Amino acid sequence: MLYYFPYRHVDKSKFFKIAELNAAVEFAQVKGKITFIETIGEKSGRRLIAYLKDDTGLIELIWFRSISWVQKNLIEEENYTAFGRLSFFMGKPQLVHPELESVSSLSTSSKNPLEPVYSTTEKLKAKGLGGKQIGKLVFTLLNIIGSQEIPENLPDNILEKGQLMDRFGAVKQIHFPSANQEYNRALRRLKFEELFIAQIRLILIRSERHRLSKGVVFSKVGDHFNTYYKDHLPFELTGAQKRVIKEIRKDTASGHQMNRLLQGDVGSGKTVVALLTMLLAIDNGYQCCFMAPTEILSQQHFASIKEQLNDISLEVRLLTGSTKSAERKKTLQLLADGEVKILIGTHAIIEEVVQFKNLGLAIVDEQHRFGVAQRARLWNKASIPPHILVMTATPIPRTLAMTAYGDLDYSVMDELPPGRQPITTVHRYDDQRSRVMDFIKSELALGRQAYIIFPLIEESDKLDYENLMQGYENVKAFFPEPKYWISMVHGRQPSDQKENNMQRFVKGDTQIMVSTTVIEVGVNVPNASIMVIESAEKFGLSQLHQLRGRVGRGGDKSYCVLMTSPKISNDARERIKTMTSTNSGFEISEKDLELRGPGDIEGTRQSGSLNFKLADLVKDKAILEAAKMYAEQIVEKDPELVLTENVRLKNYLVSPKGKTPWSKIS
Ligand code: ADP
Ligand code: MG
Repeated sequence: MLYYFPYRHVDKSKFFKIAELNAAVEFAQVKGKITFIETIGEKSGRRLIAYLKDDTGLIELIWFRSISWVQKNLIEEENYTAFGRLSFFMGKPQLVHPELESVSSLSTSSKNPLEPVYSTTEKLKAKGLGGKQIGKLVFTLLNIIGSQEIPENLPDNILEKGQLMDRFGAVKQIHFPSANQEYNRALRRLKFEELFIAQIRLILIRSERHRLSKGVVFSKVGDHFNTYYKDHLPFELTGAQKRVIKEIRKDTASGHQMNRLLQGDVGSGKTVVALLTMLLAIDNGYQCCFMAPTEILSQQHFASIKEQLNDISLEVRLLTGSTKSAERKKTLQLLADGEVKILIGTHAIIEEVVQFKNLGLAIVDEQHRFGVAQRARLWNKASIPPHILVMTATPIPRTLAMTAYGDLDYSVMDELPPGRQPITTVHRYDDQRSRVMDFIKSELALGRQAYIIFPLIEESDKLDYENLMQGYENVKAFFPEPKYWISMVHGRQPSDQKENNMQRFVKGDTQIMVSTTVIEVGVNVPNASIMVIESAEKFGLSQLHQLRGRVGRGGDKSYCVLMTSPKISNDARERIKTMTSTNSGFEISEKDLELRGPGDIEGTRQSGSLNFKLADLVKDKAILEAAKMYAEQIVEKDPELVLTENVRLKNYLVSPKGKTPWSKIS
């Protein structure tokens, strides 16, 4: 009950002059004399009206229930204060069922000026638990308990350093503040507590893994890594790539299991980091698997990794849902024998039947939603759990990453390979389509390629398919064969057809790719320089950013055109504006968080870990940062929380009421 917080307070120290009241005032308190009382109306329309007058005007106080009781207690010509929700009827101000107090009795009671307002429901109200009753119960409760009932759970030095109110005081003040300032202090304390407790739980899990988990040791850099690095790597690594590889090397040499999340913007070059990490594992005698979210992406990774390894002889195999059974059998055999060094594929690779000889590393590409259950399946594939590297599809805001993934180690690649030109993004309306098509023509004339994307909200959505087919016909009319060739890819095609169409585009046999969002993540065709997104208003920000990331992957100047109908919602307009004003995935993710709130952000766990009672990840960033810093300091110094100063924190964390069901990661 005490942690059921009011959502606002009304200031009972403030009085309105009746003449000042207007429709913008939600709750009003007035002071004046009751001049006249009458009952009017029949049956259910029967009501009591008291007229209250101050020196500026008149307001009606109205009761539909308890009429005789009110009537008996009201005294004409007496001074009262009245408080309630303000309404207007025929231009006249009214308070229906106001709280009323005679001024003489008021002066004796020293009530809190700030009264809490609690949310409640019709059902609760019917059972006598309206907002007011909740307030009364809390008030009573606070009077009969003492600080030992709500013992402090934060260490003293943190209270001191953070200048935080004590816990009992904060709980009292958040319900019945003695002043606005005290309320704000209480709020800050309780927000801090909420975020701090969440942080320390995550950090303890991480610390425990660092100290106690077992991991295979990649102690050396060997021939495969070195040969690839020296002779095959087609470019110089960016600083960010080098840094991340160093972090991974350190993790994998530690003897403990790595559990790392790699956040990198679209096009920052995560794949090569994955490849180098796999070579490191192989050099130390282990097998690896590399999992991608879609068939297309698995195939693409397979092709590109085989090509990059070129004359380095290593058995690399592909396993997806559509792998033919003879092929699958062979792969499984070679895998169990330890012959296959790299297994690339979709979710098919974590199925029960897939057994490795000595799996040492699992990489999950373009997916942060890789759940606990799926991880657990990887665990079972080796006696010592393999190292795990999860690479995100799109950046997520730092505050979210900290709360949703605080138990993972976390790397950021915030640097794009050199020579990339920013993608120019524009917004065009449907009636400008022919000009957009002309622009595509001019780019194709320079030897480039183009994507045209149609929304497909659900695989089964018939309308979307018709839309796509119609769109395809339109594009064909603009770009007739044999001068132009078009690939089309969508989710309803059999996978070999999908693959075939994709490959024709990859090889440059077709200049235009008409597709649904199946190509959203990962696809890499550096020669493509135009991305046209149809009905862009239907896409979320992170999806738009992912799609745009399919161009600008080579040295050519690239463009993204967001097509919409002329009428779009304000939110959609805001998204389009964000897209046309920045290329940074990190900035976009912050905007996304702001627009949609943490619950809806793609890629965050739906575990409720982001649903705080008081804290708001957008507004309370600073508090979160502080909470995280303190939590890290404590765990660093005292990972088991055995020092006297941390005893009450530990007690709180292990007590059932302090426990939230955190999904453990490993
Ligand atoms: P993402 O992080 O989106 O998965 P990719 O790994 O697909 O990005 O890389 C995007 C493109 O950038 C690829 O064509 C890749 O070969 C290229 N690339 C990666 N790292 C570098 C680098 N250090 N210098 C130049 N090009 C790079
Ligand atoms: Mg990628």
